[in-house]
Amino acid sequence: MKILKFGGTSVGSAQRMREVAKLITDGEKNIVVLSAMSGTTNALVEISDYLYKKNPEGANEIINRLENTYRKHVEELYETTEYKQKVLEVIRSHFDYIRSYTKDLFTLFEEKVVLAQGELISTAMMNYYLQESGVKSVLLPALEFMRTDKNAEPDPVYIKEKLQAQLELHPDADIYITQGFICRNAYGEIDNLQRGGSDYTASLIGAALNASEIQIWTDIDGMHNNDPRIVDKTSPVRQLHFEEAAELAYFGAKILHPTCVQPAKYANIPVRLLNTMDPTAPGTIISNETEKGKIKAVAAKENITAIKIKSSRMLLAHGFLRKVFEIFESYQTSIDMICTSEVGVSVSVDNTKHLNEIVDDLKKYGTVTVDKDMCIICVAGDLDWENIGFEASVVEALKDIPVRMISYGGSNYNISILVREQDKKLALQALSRVLFNEN
Ligand code: ADP
Ligand code: ASP
Ligand code: MG
Repeated sequence: MKILKFGGTSVGSAQRMREVAKLITDGEKNIVVLSAMSGTTNALVEISDYLYKKNPEGANEIINRLENTYRKHVEELYETTEYKQKVLEVIRSHFDYIRSYTKDLFTLFEEKVVLAQGELISTAMMNYYLQESGVKSVLLPALEFMRTDKNAEPDPVYIKEKLQAQLELHPDADIYITQGFICRNAYGEIDNLQRGGSDYTASLIGAALNASEIQIWTDIDGMHNNDPRIVDKTSPVRQLHFEEAAELAYFGAKILHPTCVQPAKYANIPVRLLNTMDPTAPGTIISNETEKGKIKAVAAKENITAIKIKSSRMLLAHGFLRKVFEIFESYQTSIDMICTSEVGVSVSVDNTKHLNEIVDDLKKYGTVTVDKDMCIICVAGDLDWENIGFEASVVEALKDIPVRMISYGGSNYNISILVREQDKKLALQALSRVLFNEN
């Protein structure tokens, strides 16, 4: 059994939904995970924003506009009046449900329910489309099996048990359709796996069922060696180790949600990145195999803040780093990069919610300097320390750009470099030129 996940763009119009339907009915009894149609989750976030601000008129305007868009999709997608009417009714009930939230108190809980509607609608539409085409398609309700625990982490035992029970209810199905992104939390309330989290759903289902492969279908032919939104010339990377993929995803390669790597890696299930617009392109395969002696790709993550603590008294006396890290831990702020010297330590963080308190507390231990608007550039590949020359090429590529931190040796798979956000594009272009002879 394979798990096939299609992102928002892949199901973004009636035409795209038809294309996806062709791809998923390959004769195998697969599980298909769908995102909301593109733009929907953003619209639902905007609706929620109006409701938080107690502006039901603003919310209603977007709700009406979105509902009209869906009505048009329905007209275009289905052949028969019977199905058109059936699905229009489904659409109406979801939008009426969203509208019911414009009348009452609106909190985080209500927002989660509103955000869940996008995936509930897209999967219902696909399920009915397949049924209209004569396929025995069954909807697996994610809210019945996808669950997080008290630490907001997925609960693999619950997921496996409930998912299997759902599958057993429908032994005759040709294909199963389910919602990405949405789940219930430990208290049974509707929740989600964070924006972009449908990739995580696919990976969790794959691990729960020991699938033969997890396929992430999107709008590009696999992981490219640099960010195609920023650099003109990029090329697909055909093979990645899970850890290379994890580094790239975490440090900005949007094609893959960072959380998605871990369940697949531990279950040793290959993840294939494929292109809905070009289904025969080979895409990228992510597995536990390393391609020796190769730099694979570069990614960048913005909105990073660097904090330097220069120890005043004790130099790097033992216990200094512990005290520094405890401060970050007490404000639930995780550290991305770290560089030490005899007299101080620099770290980078992306969550600045408690920056002022952190800086105040750090001042007990030394002189603190903060650099905002920084960007981590991540170079991923076979960066085993015994290989020679790769780190030199990276530094050489960045020779004209001021570098605030360099982190190498933390894993066998990456080097991270901290530069100013304003230098991001130049840095990515320079790395493409030097590492891949591109640009
Ligand atoms: P989906 O809606 O299918 O989940 P996403 O928008 O989340 O799709 O991810 C696909 C996008 O990721 C691509 O359109 C591309 O612009 C972007 N992207 C960023 N970095 C990379 C990269 N290194 N390789 C491929 N795509 C990338
Ligand atoms: N629809 C959700 C989002 O836009 C989840 C996903 O697409 O992965 O973030
Ligand atoms: Mg995505």
